Amino acid sequence: MIPLDQFRPITRLELPQQQRLRPKFPVIDAHSHLTRTKDVAKVLDDMDRYGIRMIVDMDGFWDERMDYQLKHYVEPHPDRFTIFGRVNLCGIDEPDFERKARQRVLECVERGATGLKFSKSLGVKLTDKNGVYLKPDDPRLQVIWATAAECDLPVTIHIADPPSFFDKVIDETHERYEELAGHPNWSYGNRPCPRFPELMEAQERLLAANPNTRFIVAHVGSHAENLAEVSRMLDTYPNMFVDTAERISELGRQPYTSRDFLIKYQDRVVYGTDLLPTPSNISGNYRFFETRDEYFPYNSLDEHNQGRWNIYGVYLPDDVLQKIYYKNALRLIPRLAKLLPDLAP
Ligand SMILES: [Zn+2]
Repeated sequence: MIPLDQFRPITRLELPQQQRLRPKFPVIDAHSHLTRTKDVAKVLDDMDRYGIRMIVDMDGFWDERMDYQLKHYVEPHPDRFTIFGRVNLCGIDEPDFERKARQRVLECVERGATGLKFSKSLGVKLTDKNGVYLKPDDPRLQVIWATAAECDLPVTIHIADPPSFFDKVIDETHERYEELAGHPNWSYGNRPCPRFPELMEAQERLLAANPNTRFIVAHVGSHAENLAEVSRMLDTYPNMFVDTAERISELGRQPYTSRDFLIKYQDRVVYGTDLLPTPSNISGNYRFFETRDEYFPYNSLDEHNQGRWNIYGVYLPDDVLQKIYYKNALRLIPRLAKLLPDLAP
């Protein structure tokens, strides 16, 4: 037998398999991470090559990384890059945390951040001084959401991780076996952090408690595996929006459900990749959103293999495609419209 990691089957389906490297409309990637490279010129080149008008960099952070991203990306290229700032939650036990957190949000605005970003650490990693895991609905964080609303700053928040990363048993029946075998530290199976359902309950309480704050819940509302549930949340909470970052793998293997979902919630979804552009992930995205292509890879197996399946295109109508590619981002991130006057309505 060939070992699993050497198995590289090539489909014998005789279908059009050409790459698609240019989008039908301008694209704003509303969820990327630019601390992954220091080669600004290459990123700009790739953006031109693949029709990406702007990248929203989630890596604003709260320390010298913010200075670096501003100096190298945003300030020289204000119409190509923008950052979302972050708030350091490590001081949550300190008596003046609330004052400092509010101050930090105001500082983000002052320094030109166009939104805030919170990572999954809030939920699966950070604990307070008593060792209790912080969850997104922790009342001590309320000041942040209120200040964001006051400043008209959207909040992109990544909560939990794929539900299958919380499985206790990762055996031959686990569809993400190869991925987790390659990255055992991505599994929460044997960690003491809250479980997936508990984090989804916290997510719901966060949305319910802050109706005036605009949340872009990353990775298709944290639950691309269950679009019925994401639909229920979107129906219940008008302040909830989602991005598609790193989830065309899930959306594209349920193309009928996804197409209905994307058309129904066409005003609530923004395009994002979570990735630096490469021909394989760019082509996967554009083919997924734009074409009727069948059974094609969402990314190259060697770049990031979430599981051994292929995806299908959902051939969105032009008006829906424009909203998801850039119009919704301009609406949800109001400061962007000023940076991209030619795209703004
Ligand atoms: Zn991300």
